[in-house]
Amino acid sequence: MDANNVQNRMQEIQKDQSFSNALGKILSGKSNYKPVIEMRKIEVRCKHCGITLDETMKFCHQCGTKVEK
Ligand SMILES: [Zn+2]
Repeated sequence: MDANNVQNRMQEIQKDQSFSNALGKILSGKSNYKPVIEMRKIEVRCKHCGITLDETMKFCHQCGTKVEK
């Protein structure tokens, strides 16, 4: 067996591992990403001006009316 061949093979394996690590991060990031999107879809409307507000907002950014849920 050629010594250079073995070294090349080792480098290939290391590349594969870093690639699958990166892929795992991307995939786990995506699986976490979806619930965040769904939570952000909860919307509240201002009673006064009817603008769509984020649920976490306490006051309307348009007219300043307190947001009631
Ligand atoms: Zn408003």
